[in-house]
Amino acid sequence: RYKEKWAATAPRIPCTRLALHHFDMSYSLQLKDLWPSVRAGLLCEQKYGALLNNFSADDYVSQELELMNATDFVSEGFKKAQQGAAAEEVRREESRSQEGPGKVRTVMQTEAVTQAEMSPPLRASISSNIKCYTYSRGDITRFRPARQDSLGLLDYYLMDAASLLPVLALNVQRGDLVLDLCAAPGGKTLALLQTGFCGHLAANDISISRTKRLYSILNSYIPKDIRETVSVTSYDGRDWEQLEGDTFHKVLVDVPCTTDRHSVMEEENNIFHKRRTKERQMLPMLQLQLLMAGILATKPGGEVVYSTCSLSSLQNECVIERAVDIAETQFNISVHVEDLSHFRMLFQDTFSFFTDCRLGELVLPHLTANFGPMYFCKLRRV
Ligand code: SAM
Repeated sequence: RYKEKWAATAPRIPCTRLALHHFDMSYSLQLKDLWPSVRAGLLCEQKYGALLNNFSADDYVSQELELMNATDFVSEGFKKAQQGAAAEEVRREESRSQEGPGKVRTVMQTEAVTQAEMSPPLRASISSNIKCYTYSRGDITRFRPARQDSLGLLDYYLMDAASLLPVLALNVQRGDLVLDLCAAPGGKTLALLQTGFCGHLAANDISISRTKRLYSILNSYIPKDIRETVSVTSYDGRDWEQLEGDTFHKVLVDVPCTTDRHSVMEEENNIFHKRRTKERQMLPMLQLQLLMAGILATKPGGEVVYSTCSLSSLQNECVIERAVDIAETQFNISVHVEDLSHFRMLFQDTFSFFTDCRLGELVLPHLTANFGPMYFCKLRRV
């Protein structure tokens, strides 16, 4: 007689499928009509940007990338801001000249508008030496791998270009003491160093193995004398306040999250694995604790940027709201959420932004501009 065989355990559902199912349930409610397009973006090859290494001795790299039709999205945003400021100045001059006699500036003079004339948020968002090349919307050309220069330093670092937005939002100024609380593997740490402005950079990450990758990036891109201005540690970031409270001018809190793109594409190290359910459910709490530590590590008047690579409002805006509330009620610290909507205007040619964020900004994956997801929100400690 034929005896039917039954598997002792049900076949395991791939983590990527669990993740997609979870996202279908939550993001279709959150993003509504946008979700099918964002979903398609998440499931397709992501786009990269080439973060130029300002410490590399090779100065032909920009030229080479421009010949390939890549453009530096940061300086493109800068130009746009200048043109916007110039147009605004023309409008103001015209209305002044209609009101009464006065000197009207020529268009030439107005085009030469300086950064000083731009509105503060625009000026603040672009005062940086960061250069990152991307291909235009719809162009899915890949960058060649990075190459070593004559000193052995690599010429650029390939990363999701949207990951630079939190660093640009942090707006590091010359001599600032900067803390990167969850720094490994180090893409944003590298970008912070490219500004050339960090007085001191503390790069921390709880994971020893990931910290090794951070060291390896520093060794591959940064000359020894600059590397020596960076201190790398492996503390639990939640305890940072006990180490150094009220210390830093700028703090980046790039927290662990559901890494949405990774979760729907890769089985390895997937947070939707059954045995990581508790860890995943506890993420918003961990994120809140890390953000609180970041706020407490900031000097009064200093600024914190919180970021995730998730679309989840529970990991994004909700964490911000809770942190602002706890800072006020438990620590008597006022925290102001800064308006970053000018980022949308500056960088809309490169990224697809979600227009309905209550707090902060969110880059949505899109088939023609497949960066992100990247959420970032800036807080100022009053
Ligand atoms: N900023 C990094 C970059 O741009 O390359 C990516 C950071 S990743 C999104 C989040 C990091 O947080 C992980 O490397 C993880 O090891 C670290 N992390 C998790 N829990 C932490 C904790 N309690 N304290 C400090 N770091 C933590």
